[in-house]
Amino acid sequence: MTRNHRLSRRSFLTEFGGGVTAVAIFGLAACSSSETSSSATTVEQGDAPVPTTTGEGAESAETTSAGDASPVGDGFRWERVDLGFVSAYVIARGSELAIVDTGNQGSEGEILTVVEALGGTWEDVNHVIATHAHGDHVGSIRKVMEAAAGASGYAGADDISNINAPRDLVSLSDGDEVFGLQVIATPGHTPGSISVFDSDSGVLIAGDALNTPDGVLEGPNPSFSSDLDLANTSVQRLAELNFETLLVGHGLPIESGAGALVSSLAETL
Ligand SMILES: [Zn+2]
Repeated sequence: MTRNHRLSRRSFLTEFGGGVTAVAIFGLAACSSSETSSSATTVEQGDAPVPTTTGEGAESAETTSAGDASPVGDGFRWERVDLGFVSAYVIARGSELAIVDTGNQGSEGEILTVVEALGGTWEDVNHVIATHAHGDHVGSIRKVMEAAAGASGYAGADDISNINAPRDLVSLSDGDEVFGLQVIATPGHTPGSISVFDSDSGVLIAGDALNTPDGVLEGPNPSFSSDLDLANTSVQRLAELNFETLLVGHGLPIESGAGALVSSLAETL
């Protein structure tokens, strides 16, 4: 077994050169670190009507599939909440919103900024999904769910007991569907890790089942995964999916060609 195998992707740094600093921060910070960043830049995909502060989304718009066929305001859109070494994501379908992961404690303000950039308010957030129970992904789930008072919260069954939420979370298992997202059980990083997948747009949100530090795709972090062999098996599961765009907890999105990269990585694990 090859651990921590890295795949280079030449075009990645070209497309996302503006985000190299954010990726580099990952190397200094643990997945479950309690450190909080105040950074709040966002990345734009497709024709989402959101101003980007870095211009990172401009080139990627021509290679993305999400949102291209839909009028602005309709269809599937996503936005990254840049929280420094970790990311959360806001998903939109029309005017309805879902949040995937919530960052460290104190991240609710940055998340709201992206919710508002998508034209919404906390009242439009109907779903809050935790990919896993690590503190840098669920640290703000209490504040987010208190603010989004009408939202249901969700997490993988084996992680729920480790998440401090203000309301009971809905237990998710492989094959479930939330907000039109297919739930893929990807255990190993934590026992209850899940990924969520929008098959129509080919967007996979993998939490920490995959990473993209320094502009290269990597498998789960050996230092922070409870069962690395199982986590690597989960990567092989993800490689079976048909997707173009990969959104991860640590590192920048890969907006096109991600499925092929994950397939290549899976063959080495
Ligand atoms: Zn984690």
